[in-house]
Amino acid sequence: MSTGTRMSQPTSGGAFPVQRIRDDFPVLNQRVNGQPLVYLDNASTAQKPRVVIDTLSRYYAEDNANIHRAIHTLAERATQAYERTRSKVREFINAADSREIIFVRGTTEGINLAAQSYARSVLTEGDEIIVSAMEHHSNIVPWQLVCQQVGARLRVIPVDDDGELLVDEYRRLLSERTKLVALAHVSNVLGTINPVKQMIEMAHSHGAPVLLDGAQAVPHLRVDVRDLDCDFYAFSSHKLYGPTGVGALYGKADLLEEMPPYQGGGEMIASVTFEKTQYNVLPYKFEAGTPNIAGVVGLGAAIDYVQQVGLSAAGGYEHELLDYATGVLAAIPGLQIIGTAREKASVISFVIDGIHAHDLGTILDQHGVAIRAGHHCAMPLMQRFGVPATARASFAFYNTREEVDALARAVDAAIEVFG
Ligand SMILES: *Cc1c(COP(=O)(O)O)cnc(C)c1O
Repeated sequence: MSTGTRMSQPTSGGAFPVQRIRDDFPVLNQRVNGQPLVYLDNASTAQKPRVVIDTLSRYYAEDNANIHRAIHTLAERATQAYERTRSKVREFINAADSREIIFVRGTTEGINLAAQSYARSVLTEGDEIIVSAMEHHSNIVPWQLVCQQVGARLRVIPVDDDGELLVDEYRRLLSERTKLVALAHVSNVLGTINPVKQMIEMAHSHGAPVLLDGAQAVPHLRVDVRDLDCDFYAFSSHKLYGPTGVGALYGKADLLEEMPPYQGGGEMIASVTFEKTQYNVLPYKFEAGTPNIAGVVGLGAAIDYVQQVGLSAAGGYEHELLDYATGVLAAIPGLQIIGTAREKASVISFVIDGIHAHDLGTILDQHGVAIRAGHHCAMPLMQRFGVPATARASFAFYNTREEVDALARAVDAAIEVFG
């Protein structure tokens, strides 16, 4: 054993009621390959508490109907449940108005909406969009597409060896050509919490609006879009303990009012003739077709659940786990952590000398430990750090120190196999 014995304090003794929380997540209570499941792939998708699962099945069992065509009782109930979630999202991110909350399939669709509706209609040849070197492909490719369409150019904020954005380089990139800045609030690979408030202020001083990719932020931090003063904010339900296939895009009302529809179809119109179509008001202008009604209702239950756990208590607990895991992993010879920013959420990427991340992931799975191995949809960032892939352990508020120990034991076992 390269790392000796690890004697962690049982987490149940602390103030944060992790054992009770674990009981809310049925999927955690199982064995995988003969070992208790240790689920550390939360940055890919989080598990769902029973209340979310029950909300989905209750919705289908009792209320299912199409929304906004409320002529009968079920349609009325479905519409109310759907719109209640819009209010919950508004409150959750402290938006000023529910009209600023657009339901989409997830972060990816939210960013594509902003790119194709906002950027495509506003940008022209020679304009620039600034992103960072730590973006998820979802916050790169939609901007590349719009750049090709309008003849604009993508500029990239570099990252230092710790995984922090070089804010001085960003300052140099900003100019009157900058028409939009799109940034990860929290990196899905490095865990870095970016100084977005300051960066938004800098963009605004050049007249450029800012979109934040909040996929990894909302599960860990209290997000206040008005305090941040961001212009768009996108996140996914499934990383926030809610169902897949749904998410939200926040946009400032004055921007959304000016933007053309993203997709055409039912629900986004006020009236249609073959000569002219009048669009619906916000937010319906951007919600063409029958949405993921059950998913939206489930997202509402997830937000209620997260609020009940308490994001600041959960964030503090996750931070302790992060510190503990960082210490335990860093002590393993040959293991290098990628991403050592001062401000981090509970995500740890690492590489081990002589072991490919995929082989490591396979061995860990044999020990019941689920991590992610690969490029994490951030190939430019892998290039920046000169690695083809990393292993990534990402922690939710239901994870424990004992699970961190199980991860470390499984890593030790992998090193014995390959080392
Ligand atoms: C997961 C993730 C996305 C994409 O989210 P989807 O739910 O797949 O649309 C975008 N950005 C970051 C930082 C992510 O972690």
